[in-house]
Amino acid sequence: AIEKEPSAKESNIAKIKVVVRKRPLNKKEISRKEDDIVTVHDSSYLSVHEPKLKVDLTAYVEKHEFCFDAVLDENVNNDEVYRVTVEPIIPTIFQRTKATCFAYGQTGSGKTFTMQPLPLRASEDIVRLLHQPVYSNQRFRLWLSYFEIYGGKLFDLLSDRRKLCMREDGRQQVCIVGLQEFEVSDVQIVREYIEKGNSARSTGSTGANEESSRSHAILQLVIKKHKEVNNSKRHNEGNESKGGKVIGKLSFIDLAGSERGADTTDNDRQTRIEGAEINKSLLALKECIRALDNDQIHIPFRGSKLTEVLRDSFVGNSRTIMISCISPNAGSCEHTLNTLRYADRVK
Ligand code: ADP
Ligand code: MG
Repeated sequence: AIEKEPSAKESNIAKIKVVVRKRPLNKKEISRKEDDIVTVHDSSYLSVHEPKLKVDLTAYVEKHEFCFDAVLDENVNNDEVYRVTVEPIIPTIFQRTKATCFAYGQTGSGKTFTMQPLPLRASEDIVRLLHQPVYSNQRFRLWLSYFEIYGGKLFDLLSDRRKLCMREDGRQQVCIVGLQEFEVSDVQIVREYIEKGNSARSTGSTGANEESSRSHAILQLVIKKHKEVNNSKRHNEGNESKGGKVIGKLSFIDLAGSERGADTTDNDRQTRIEGAEINKSLLALKECIRALDNDQIHIPFRGSKLTEVLRDSFVGNSRTIMISCISPNAGSCEHTLNTLRYADRVK
């Protein structure tokens, strides 16, 4: 039987928040004189102006309108992104909540640019809270892990891309066997781990950006409560952290480029396989978030490796933030509309 946890809806922080972020036109797009077809009207409403041709080849524009929990235009900086997305949920992860923040969108739309600073800001806030009187005597400690899902397989980005496997313990807890967790005591350490992990991301033969757009990168911050330990026995790495009881978890997921899910007809067999896997995982993710939103008992997390790994973040007290990144240029119109429709289905 599934133990019913207090509903996340009892708290005033929404269970699911869908945020759209538009990036500015880049130099290349400006030099090509591409139009900016995305207009942010206010903090929750945007429109896309799709250039189209009639049968007699006269040009016209089709307007598509969307509303989300928050819409951030090209002038919004990363600090503000943090304030709108992750900052409000920080206190909840001290109270048995598992929160997940996704960046979704086509390659080049700003997912990595958006995601990279978030765990830094979050760990800064978490470490500060850990030192406050309410928590400082509770033996809470913060741990970090960073791994990648590539072609349906898991790789530890902080231990030489060691291949990992996943196990369920029958109590809806997911265990990634061998995943290294490192204790975080200050932000500088987090910065170093992120850099180390980034340089270990899939690069394949074609160069870093190309290949990393086919993988999901998952950085997790976990607060654990530990038994009294002798300080001399404290090690700063490895499975020692298993001893602690998980209090809360915050996962940051830089998803594979959404357009990669369409690589299912590519000439290259490997690319087709990866495309199919990405397509499956992004669809499964959408279904899980929808199920979560409807308070369904059955969450279809078995649909993909990504959702299986996130299983424990989809049950009980959970918070989900979806940041949908969009490119403003006319040439990206189709991908932008696809991203917004995906986000629309999730909200
Ligand atoms: P993705 O991870 O979705 O493939 P990136 O985050 O790598 O995309 O962004 C692509 C390029 O656009 C990078 O050079 C990045 O610095 C730039 N960029 C993305 N978002 C913004 C933004 N909001 N403001 C300024 N530059 C941005
Ligand atoms: Mg990226």
